[in-house]
Order: sequence, then C-alpha cells, then structure tokens
Amino acid sequence: MRQKPDGFANPIYVTKPMLPPLGEFTSQLEDIWDSAWLTNGGAKHAALEAALAKRLGARHFSLFNNGTSALLVACQALRLAGEVITTPFTFPATPHVLHWNNVTPVFCDIDEETLTIDPAVAEALITPRTTGVLGVHVYGMPCDVNAFERIREQYGVKVLYDGAHAFGTEIDGKPVAEFGDATMYSFHATKLFHSAEGGGLAMADEAMKRRVDLLKNFGILNETEVIMPGTNGKMNEVQAALGLVNLAHYDAEHAARQRVAQVYLSRLDEIPGITCFRLPPNVGHSMQYFIVRVNPQACGVSRDRLYDMLKQFNVFSRRYFYPLCSEHNCYRALPSADPGRLPIATRVSREVLALPLYGELGEDGANRIVDIIQYICNGKQ
Ligand SMILES: *Cc1c(COP(=O)(O)O)cnc(C)c1O
Repeated sequence: MRQKPDGFANPIYVTKPMLPPLGEFTSQLEDIWDSAWLTNGGAKHAALEAALAKRLGARHFSLFNNGTSALLVACQALRLAGEVITTPFTFPATPHVLHWNNVTPVFCDIDEETLTIDPAVAEALITPRTTGVLGVHVYGMPCDVNAFERIREQYGVKVLYDGAHAFGTEIDGKPVAEFGDATMYSFHATKLFHSAEGGGLAMADEAMKRRVDLLKNFGILNETEVIMPGTNGKMNEVQAALGLVNLAHYDAEHAARQRVAQVYLSRLDEIPGITCFRLPPNVGHSMQYFIVRVNPQACGVSRDRLYDMLKQFNVFSRRYFYPLCSEHNCYRALPSADPGRLPIATRVSREVLALPLYGELGEDGANRIVDIIQYICNGKQ
C-alpha cells in the first residue's frame, strides 16, 4: 500500500474564476466613469457584442445579463409553446426556462457516448403539441446537430441549444453557433469566459435578432411605443467591461487548462474503473469541465464515496449533473420524468464527477489530485 498523499492546505474547488490583472479592469471602468453611461447599450456593450459575435462565429448575436434570461427570451422569440423535448442531464436552468414560458418539458434519454439527447429517442417523443427541441451541448460535447437539423426540417419544430459549456466549440471547424435556430452562452463566473454574470444568444436569423433585442428591453421601440411584452435582460457596461478584459485572456486560460487536462488524461485512465470523458478530435475541447466516469465494480469505490473521500484531502469535486433535473420535485411527476424511460441518463448521473479544472491549478495540482484519486481507489476505502 502506497503512502497516503498529503491533502491540500487550502480548499481546491471545481473551478476558480479567471481574474485578470485588476488594473486592466479599472482602466475600463475609468472609460465608463468618463462616459457616465452605465447600461442600455453603451460603448462597452457594443464592443463586446461585436467581439463575441466574431469569436463565436455567430451570424447575429445579443448580449444578456445572464444565460438564463438569454434562454427565456429565446423561447419567447421562437414562440415555443405546448411541449419541448429536452435533456434531464443538465443544469436546472434548462427545464426552468421552458416552465417559465408555460411550456411542458419532455425529458428525453441521452446517448451513452455523447451524453447529449439521443435524436432517435427524441423523434419518438414528438407529438402534435411539440414545438421545439432544447438540446444541451453538455461539457462542450455538441449534440448530434445534423440529426436535429433533419428533425427541424421534417417536423417543422424549432431547435434551440443551451451552449453554456460550449464557448468556442467547433464541429469540423464550424462553430456550434451555426447550428439550430439559436444557441445560448453563459458568462457566469464559473464559466471559462465570464463577465461575473452574463450571457449571450447567437441566432441564425436577422428578424429574430431584432425581436430578441426588443424582448430584452421591455419591448420598447421608441419613447411612445412598446410593441411587445418584454423583460429586462440587458447586460450592463460594468459586466461588458469585465467581459472585454477577460476575452483578451481567454486563450491563455484555455491553454493553461489544456495542460491541466493533459495530466488528467495521461494518468487517470490507468486507474481501474475510472474513465475520462473525451471529446472527439473534430470538436476540440471547451475546457469548461473535466469529467470522469466511475465504474464502482471496477474501481472498488462508488462515485459518491470518491466524492466524499476527496473532501478529506480538501478537494471539492462536483457531481455534475446529479440528480437529474427530472428527479427534482418540480418535475418528477411528469410522465417523461419516469426513470424507467431515462435509463442511460439515470445511470450516467450516478457515474460522473467533475474534477477541478482551472489554469492556476497547474500540472502540479493536477498530479497531486491524481495521486489522491489513485490512493483512494487502490485502498478501496
Ligand atoms: C451555467 C449554466 C446555465 C445558466 O447560465 P447563467 O448564466 O448562470 O444563467 C444554463 N445551463 C447550463 C447547462 C449551465 O451550465
């Protein structure tokens, strides 16, 4: 039995927000102070919206105060109603935006390999009430976008993507923003690219962009005309300024995370029962999360045991996404929430563990975490 590795002196969380040199941010704030323009589409908002549209390869793009309002507004703009097919294996905001739009979420099982909604299962769930599909590019793994394109055309349903984990994700060199009617991005502090809170919506259609911009600003057309019942989803200048500063550091943080992930990838698969979730080479990695799947029989410890034991070493991993959204009280009574209809999602949610992934962790930090996991699994404690 190998020697017990030391725990970390300070808690290691699953992520640590990117914090660029403070001076870069305060210099942006000086511009804002000079302009005395704090929100409602100022200069920082315009600059960030244009920069992100380009970066994300979005034909049309609109900034939001957070990703959830971007999705809420997208549902309104696409006039989703009745039923929308979605995944239970996601953050609760995904089904919540449907509920807030008076739409019934219909949970669909996921594919064993990609962990995104299985298009064949989704197709079988289509009813006369179905108006759309809300897919999630979970962990930056794109949904089967070509299959959903066919479903969109064949059934006349809308296809909306929650791309909260898919900043910069491409499929064979094509940005994910090019697929479906719209793609949401989250710029929450826990996301690699962030503006503390923030979000964006990439859209294929220019008319939709006009409608979305009205909807996020109360539907106000001009001083005397309000032409639709909108909400307040606007990103403010301080958020946009932080976004601009962070965007300049995005590539360096992404590369630093890649070095951390490389340590995990090169060592973790050697531990029996631990499998790294890998993205296909034609996709590239958003470096939003690093996920392992734990097979308790082969590993000797369950995912939950590993998660608990890691805490004793001051390592705070996260069980994304457990429980499934369909298991929460607000959704469990839906017929589609029956675990018998979601066998793969139910099993996978009990296998997955998100390990710490952020640039500052470094290769040393990642190596120490692998040593700890090796110790826990070999000791089968
Ligand atoms: C972070 C996240 C959201 C919510 O985004 P906010 O910007 O926090 O509103 C939605 N869906 C998924 C999958 C997420 O990870």
